[in-house]
Order: sequence, then C-alpha cells, then structure tokens
Amino acid sequence: MKYSSIADAYAKMEATSKRLEMTDYLVELLTETPKELIGKVAYLTQGALYPDFEGIELGMAEKMVIAAIAKATDLKKEVIVDAWKQIGDLGSTVEKLLREKPSTPNAKTVKLTPRQSLTVEAVYDTFDRIAHTGGKGSVERKVNALTRLIVEATAEEAKYLVRTVTGRLRLGIGDMTFLDALAIAYGGGKTARKDLERAYNMSSDLGLVSETVVKEGMEGIRRFHVQLGRPIRPMLCERLTSAEAVLTKLGGKGAAEYKYDGLRIQAHVSPEEISLFSRRLENITTQFPDVRKALKHGVKAESVIVEGECIAVDPDTGDLQPFQVVTQRRGRKHEIRKKVEEIPVILVLFDALFVDGAGLLDAPYLRRREYLEQVIEENGNVKITHPLIVTEPKQLDEFMASAVENGCEGLVIKSIREDSVYQAGARGFLWIKYKREYRSELVDTLDLVVVGAFAGRGRRGGTYGALLMAAYDEDSEAFKTVCKLGTGFDDATLAKLPSLFKEHVADHVHPRVESKIEADYWFVPTKVLEIRGAELTLSPSHTCGLDLVKVGAGLAVRFPRFTGRWRDDKAPHDATTVKEVVGMYKAQLKTF
Ligand code: ATP
Repeated sequence: MKYSSIADAYAKMEATSKRLEMTDYLVELLTETPKELIGKVAYLTQGALYPDFEGIELGMAEKMVIAAIAKATDLKKEVIVDAWKQIGDLGSTVEKLLREKPSTPNAKTVKLTPRQSLTVEAVYDTFDRIAHTGGKGSVERKVNALTRLIVEATAEEAKYLVRTVTGRLRLGIGDMTFLDALAIAYGGGKTARKDLERAYNMSSDLGLVSETVVKEGMEGIRRFHVQLGRPIRPMLCERLTSAEAVLTKLGGKGAAEYKYDGLRIQAHVSPEEISLFSRRLENITTQFPDVRKALKHGVKAESVIVEGECIAVDPDTGDLQPFQVVTQRRGRKHEIRKKVEEIPVILVLFDALFVDGAGLLDAPYLRRREYLEQVIEENGNVKITHPLIVTEPKQLDEFMASAVENGCEGLVIKSIREDSVYQAGARGFLWIKYKREYRSELVDTLDLVVVGAFAGRGRRGGTYGALLMAAYDEDSEAFKTVCKLGTGFDDATLAKLPSLFKEHVADHVHPRVESKIEADYWFVPTKVLEIRGAELTLSPSHTCGLDLVKVGAGLAVRFPRFTGRWRDDKAPHDATTVKEVVGMYKAQLKTF
C-alpha cells in the first residue's frame, strides 16, 4: 500500500472539522487498505504504532528530526530552524522546504528512488525501528532512518511523517469516529458500531478490533472476550446529590461503598506476569512494585483482572492520605525504590472482571463481588471494599459520615439488580457517586480541559492571565468551552504556566475545540484540571450545552477556581462531559 494513500486521506481529514466528512474519508481509507495492514493503519491514524497501553512512544526529539531534514535536503540546520520558527510546525516546515527545493539552485540531493514510492509497510517498519532503537549510537541510527524516509517522500508525505514521528499528528479522529468508520467499511453499516465498541471497551485496542472484524467478520467481534494484559476501559459513575435520589434511582436498594480518594488501578494478575493499568490505561506497573508483590500473595486464583483504588497511607498513623500524595509515586526506577518507603500505599479492590479464564463483565454486581471475596485474601497492602446494602436514606447518610471520618471523599452506591453488569467504558447510573460537599457551592468539582489561554497583564505580564477551559462532548467528540480560569493558582505555578503548556501550543484553534471566544493562545487539548465553581449559569459566550437548556445560550461556571489538582490521571476525553454539566445545572435548579 502506498503511503500516499494515507497522506491524502490525512490531508482531507485535516481540512474538515465535520465529523461525518471525517468518517467518510476514514471509510475510504479503511476500504482501500489491504487486509493484512488494517491493524497498522488503525494505529497510524491515531499517530501511533501500537495501542496506548503498550507505552511505546515514537516521540523523536525535534532536534533529531531537524538533523534528518537537513541531511535529506542538503539545507543548513539554521535555515530549517528559521523556517520552523516562522511556520510554527515542523511538519509544515518540511513540506514547504521540499516544495521549494527543486528551484533551489544549489540543490545537490539526488533522489534515491522516484518519489511516491514510499509504502505503508516501509514507513511502519522504519517507525517501529526508531521506536525500539536505544543505547549507544541510537541518535545517529534514528536520524539516518528518518532521513531515508524523507528522501523518498513527497512534500505532503514528509509533512505527515514528521508530524507522526514527533508525536504531533493530531488529526483529531476520536475513537468513536474511528469505530463508526470501521462499522461502515467492514461491519455492514453503522449499526455494527455497538458490537465494535463493546470489543474496543474490552481491549482498548483499535488495531486488534480492526483486525478481528476484517479477518473474522462481525461473528468474530461478537465472540470477542476479555484478555489478560489488555486493559478494559473503566466503568464510571453518574452523580446525585441526595440520599433519597440515589435510592430512588437504584430502585430502593443499593450497595454503598466508601469512595476512596486515590488512583484507580486495574490489575492483571497471572503466574507469569502482573500488570497494573491506570484510569487512562497506561501501564504503571513499575511505579508500584509493592502493590505487585502484595497482589502476588493476595490473589488466590490462577489469573484475575481486578480493579481498585490505590491510596497513600500515612506511614506513622496509617491514615489515608489525599489523592495528591499517591501521585508523587512517579519517577525513575531508583527514585521509586525510595518512594516506596516514603509513600506507602494500599490497594483497595472493588471489582473482579475476570477470573481463571472467565470474563465477568456481564455478571451482576453481587456475583462479581462473590468472586472478588473468593479470590482475594487481604494482606497489609491489598484490601477489598466492604459494601453496606442500604434501603433507607438515613443509612446512606450515616455511612457517608463514617466514610468522611475515615478519610474518604464520599460514597459510590452500586446497583445490585440482576442487570447490574460492568459497563466498560461507560458512565451510567448503575454506579452513583454521592459526595459530601458544601451546599452553597456546586455539588461537585469539574475536571476541565485546557484548550486556550489569555495573555496576562500587570502582575501577570509574561505569563497567562487566564486559561480557557472546556468540557468534553461525547456526541460530537468535541471540547466545548465553559469558563475562563484565572483563580486558584499559586505564584510559582502561575509563572510556570507558559512552559508547562509550551509543547501543547497550536497555531490555530484545534479542530475538536468549539469556542466562540478568541483566545490569545490555542492548545491541543491535553491537560485536565480540577476546578470548583460557585454555580453554573446560562452564558451567551460559551459553547458547553449550547441550545440544550435555552436556545442561543450555553452554560458557564461562575467564579471558577483551580483546586490545585492536576488530573494527570485523566485523558482529555475523560474530562467532565457536557451532559454532566447540563445535569449539574438542572440539579442546581432543584436545590435552590
Ligand atoms: P472523581 O473525580 O469524582 O474521582 P472520576 O471522573 O475520576 O471522578 P467517576 O467514575 O466519576 O470517576 O468516579 C468514580 C471514581 O472513584 C473511580 O474512577 C475510582 O477511581 C474512584 N473510586 C473510589 N472508590 C471507589 C469504589 N468503591 N468504587 C468505584 N470507584 C471508586
């Protein structure tokens, strides 16, 4: 398959922000892809070579890429850097330089092969080698490998090669858009999306889902099952603000568990291997050697996938510590060893998703609990939650008080009906979070994505005065603005903001950001911040919930302030959704 087919499709997708058009272009690309390449093409459209959970980063440093461009074009590095400074994107820079190149009088470069000869196989294999090259002499090897690709590429191809290799492809193809296209191309139509989504939720692997549907058809997709080593996309909670509402929603009865304030971990345990995945499905095994060890002793089955919350405990008192403490367990290998001592943690398990070869996603909550209790023997570092079956609001409020007293954020109350399956990748009312919050404020914090910034003035000269924050709209897979955030940052953080966001700066508004406000700087939606606000109000300037509550108006957070919590455990599409914001707005109307 020619790489130009991919490059052409990228160019068309880049030129549109309409999801339907983007889907059509993807359908064309997938249909034209030979069967044996479908998995690779799936990853490439995501700017990757493997599923995210493999943790294999292609990210080649810009310096190296510039060296490769210089070698491939015979241009001086300074010329490339100058052009890059003007254009702002290295991919567009190489494209422009290559387009101008034939007219450059001193051009010495002899094309080794005629242009347009690059194949997807060659590109993928070279990227793969680049990603796996390390150690002595690796810089040179990487530069040479990329040089060869650029020499063979057309200007447009080179643009996408460079963007991919630097981790900046950013076509903005959401997972669901991809699955829609796959359903149309190979599933017989859009209705196949549901089954494809189920397979994706079980495996978090678009390449594998693509290969399965292409090779085994929808039958193969329906046979899809949970596998050790492939993270399952997490089930999430809806929120309600009173014990009565929670119980009514659950049909009068539910299982209440403490809501621990830590890092969510999905543990895949087999005799050969123990892997730990974060809420974002990154492999974080190396950060928690103590948890691995504790699981090795605590699991009384051959193989399991269990889920829980990892919380830091005070080494002196044994008290649970807030979320911020456990996030300090990041670092290099030798640092981790020290941190294991300094920041002890426990893992409190709340679900079992797979036991000895049997997937449990379709089993009801109480059945999954039985498994959890059977397969886990608690020890110093591994515990399980102790649910209380509640039927009365008073019981819930008392349990809430004890949760807060024990250092928890509140409760998660879970449906115990027969249909209380594990809804992988979905936020629903089978799990409801109920937090103790101040009545005068918004009932919950929001996790919002930074999509832009405004230049600071006066005391804030040289840094940002405010950030433009957005919620995530699952239907359109777009980020919709909901407030400007300028409060709650300490001076040190404020001063650091431009450098923190440097690598996310984009030269124009990102295709998946919908904003009526013109920011001074635009970012690729990446960072998620927790904010608290006084209330939600209707707003003509924001796009979150536009037309949903009132025609012509969106929703805005009033008096937002940063809580100090960087939600690095959340990817941008894990941010608070527009639907949730609308729900909170409606709940607020009922409270006042
Ligand atoms: P929040 O910011 O409120 O933690 P979230 O968006 O990260 O929410 P939600 O699904 O809304 O995720 O809330 C549930 C989260 O609470 C889970 O992701 C998990 O990390 C955590 N949690 C703590 N204790 C429990 C429990 N007993 N059962 C389920 N989830 C729990």
